Amino acid sequence: MGDRSVADRLKDFGEVDNGLSPEEAIEEAGRCLQCKKPACVDGCPVNIDIPAFVALIAKGEFLPAAENIRQQNLLPAICGRVCPQETQCEALCILGKKETPIRIGQLERFAADQERAKGLTVPARKTATGKRVAVIGSGPAGIVAAGELAKDGHDVVLYESLHAPGGVLTYGIPSFRLPKDVVKAEIDLILAMGVDLRLNHLVGRTVSYEELEGYDAILLGTGAGLPYFMGIPGENLSGVYSANEFLTRVNLMHAERFPKFDTPVARMSRVVVVGGGNVAMDAARTARRMGAKVTLVYRRREEDLPARAAEVHHAQEEGIEFITCANPVRILGEQAVTGIECIRMQMCNLDESGRPIPEPIDNDTFTLDCDVVIQSIGQGPNPVLVSQIPGLDKGRAGNVVTGDDGSTSHPKIFAAGDVTTGAATVIMAMGGAKQAARSISEMLGSR
Ligand code: FAD
Ligand code: SF4
Repeated sequence: MGDRSVADRLKDFGEVDNGLSPEEAIEEAGRCLQCKKPACVDGCPVNIDIPAFVALIAKGEFLPAAENIRQQNLLPAICGRVCPQETQCEALCILGKKETPIRIGQLERFAADQERAKGLTVPARKTATGKRVAVIGSGPAGIVAAGELAKDGHDVVLYESLHAPGGVLTYGIPSFRLPKDVVKAEIDLILAMGVDLRLNHLVGRTVSYEELEGYDAILLGTGAGLPYFMGIPGENLSGVYSANEFLTRVNLMHAERFPKFDTPVARMSRVVVVGGGNVAMDAARTARRMGAKVTLVYRRREEDLPARAAEVHHAQEEGIEFITCANPVRILGEQAVTGIECIRMQMCNLDESGRPIPEPIDNDTFTLDCDVVIQSIGQGPNPVLVSQIPGLDKGRAGNVVTGDDGSTSHPKIFAAGDVTTGAATVIMAMGGAKQAARSISEMLGSR
């Protein structure tokens, strides 16, 4: 059914992509060759049986298709919307060699939306084991691990520092890409398996690490919510945000509806977003919906933008100006931001991975007037809890080091998601969480 028109979608935070109609879904699914050795499945980090569910959609059997997906994926409506399918399952679809690959993500979303409209069924649990597991963090890693552990019959307590579950799904990804009612429905289904969710519990501060010692196992899913800053003059001025803070203020605290809700953001008429990833696109498109003129400054070339092509396309359609080969050197203003000074960059050499290394061109600077600067140059593992656990091995970036099975250097502690990999993807976090949950159940003797 395509995207909403630009004029229409800039009026609100409603979803941009309308998804497929039943007729479109059946037609799209009918293109699948039903390969004997389906490459697409290898491209899916949770190994959904893609040909099987696509075949069911082609026959009009939408609910069985959704049930089939759910065997491997507890968050199908979310993944159908936000997974980078073009570099995963769809990248390996054999049809992509000659024509467009099957739109696997759209079909997954379609089946999950059909199922949700009819009412979701709570997955069954195995016999209670009497074992207690603490899961810290309720993003995709924590929520999926909690669901898998509850299915295996354990008593699961899920600690979340914020006042709502979901991690980045709730506070980071804007509702025009991922509607909050979709997130809520999939999380509620997992909680309905008997997971004991404790909101407003910051483990390591309001709950001490020592208080977790009575649990039989602990799973860390605390994410990568520590924003990096550029370290340039002017970063302490009023009107400078990390993308994380800005998006949390809007997505979770509804700053766009201030003063009806009591969290504001600075007055924004001209916004500069620094960065070129998906998070930068989300921040820019959010600021645009709040009425600002938005410029995105990225230090490499347009073809090097790390964001998904679809996000770049949507941002450009929505009138966001892109300035590439430029990098901020100073944020201007007395108390509040009045502008940003940037320097032009040139790409003379390549790094080991073949990416150009941006180098400043001496004295080639320019200034942009703005009242808000949003920095989106990456983020690292959340240190609050992991820095307090004695003997826990960590990598150079502060990430928790795990084996392939999710185990850490501490015998009772497992970890999954961005806290282990650094900022990655929803489905990578979910894949790690499933594996770590399996390892915990094996350790507790219930597999
Ligand atoms: P998180 O989602 O970060 O969840 C961690 C949770 O732990 C948070 O709720 C946090 O409050 C909680 N927590 C942290 N410390 C504690 C503590 N001490 N006690 C209690 N709770 C704690 N990926 C995609 O695949 N597609 C996308 O389109 C996409 N878009 C993105 C857009 C944005 C703006 C951002 C920021 C990320 C995006 N990502 C996307 C990346 C993806 O969201 C993450 O890789 C994924 O959410 C990681 O899941 P997680 O569970 O490890 O961490
Ligand atoms: Fe169908 Fe493509 Fe998977 Fe083959 S690779 S089974 S055509 S989705």
